[in-house]
Amino acid sequence: MTSAHPRTLPARITVLSGGVGGARFIQGVLRLVETTGSTGTEVTVIANTGDDLWLHGLKVCPDLDTVMYTLGNGIDPERGWGRTDETWHAKEDLAAYGVEPTWFGLGDRDLATHLVRTQMLDAGFPLSAVTEALCKRWSPGVRLLPMSDDRIETHVAIEDPETGERRAVHFQEYWIRHQANVPAFSVVPIGAVQATAGPGVLEAISETDLLILPPSNPVVSVGTILAVPGIRDAVRATPAPVIGVSGIVGDDHVRGMARQLLGIIGVEVSAAGVAEHYGSRSSAHASSGILDGWLVDTVDAGSLARIEAAGIRASAVPLMMTDHDATAAMVAAVLDLAGL
Ligand code: GDP
Ligand code: CA
Repeated sequence: MTSAHPRTLPARITVLSGGVGGARFIQGVLRLVETTGSTGTEVTVIANTGDDLWLHGLKVCPDLDTVMYTLGNGIDPERGWGRTDETWHAKEDLAAYGVEPTWFGLGDRDLATHLVRTQMLDAGFPLSAVTEALCKRWSPGVRLLPMSDDRIETHVAIEDPETGERRAVHFQEYWIRHQANVPAFSVVPIGAVQATAGPGVLEAISETDLLILPPSNPVVSVGTILAVPGIRDAVRATPAPVIGVSGIVGDDHVRGMARQLLGIIGVEVSAAGVAEHYGSRSSAHASSGILDGWLVDTVDAGSLARIEAAGIRASAVPLMMTDHDATAAMVAAVLDLAGL
């Protein structure tokens, strides 16, 4: 950990998160809260729900569940998603019935979460209330808020590998079934335009002491959260510093498939490219930018001047989330860059 890391963290920290990358980063935030004895710090996580899907009649929320299981010690650490000690009998039997889709990883233990969620939604509870109820079991140590209670589903326009025709598929079909390995042309968060931010979301952005964009996917995690009306404006207007952490190290993502998605939206696959895509909050540099500061990995130290030229304070530190302490050191560097 850097010697400059603060003794006490600010009272309120808000993080905009996807699934695996966001969840691991938040583990580092909680580790730093613990090691600095910042018992008064409340961490709020606004999670992407654009990956959500209805599957066999059940509502599945991959990013909310990844955050909840990871912080609640229920995650399978090797896969990075889904439950520990998982079995797949229901999935196998659904496939034996020939019921599609067969490519989604629906574990038996995981199924319990989806059953509870779906029952509560059927009973009329909004997703935010359902998430709060599920979190009672997992005690994630953060306030976990879905970005919206409204249905938003990211779709990707692809070239169908079988027919050669263009069609839009659910993000999960592109990501899991096709492994982001088919020609793709656009990414659309369906329903976002009509949606409203979930309860507490805009307040968590405007009434925080530090807003962090973790290394979550800039297109389908952070990008989707920012597509919910009101959220980008709240980020631009918050009095808190807004600091992002690059999920691109060198010329590629660290895990997952962010490179493919950046390609679809025409953003250069580099730490500086993503910083420029998010843009500076300073009106002198960008009209709709959201960043005050941007952390890049030490291998990308050569791009610091380019990022600063875009009006974004930048610094280079190791950005590999190898364990909680390494991740906590990244969070300490975020605080340094925020001047906190
Ligand atoms: P998803 O919803 O499960 O895809 O997870 P996120 O969107 O929250 O995070 C995925 C992103 O995290 C990927 O684009 C990775 O590049 C990034 N990521 C994963 N592990 C690391 C790491 O150790 N360091 C950095 N800098 N980025 C990481
Ligand atoms: Ca996700």
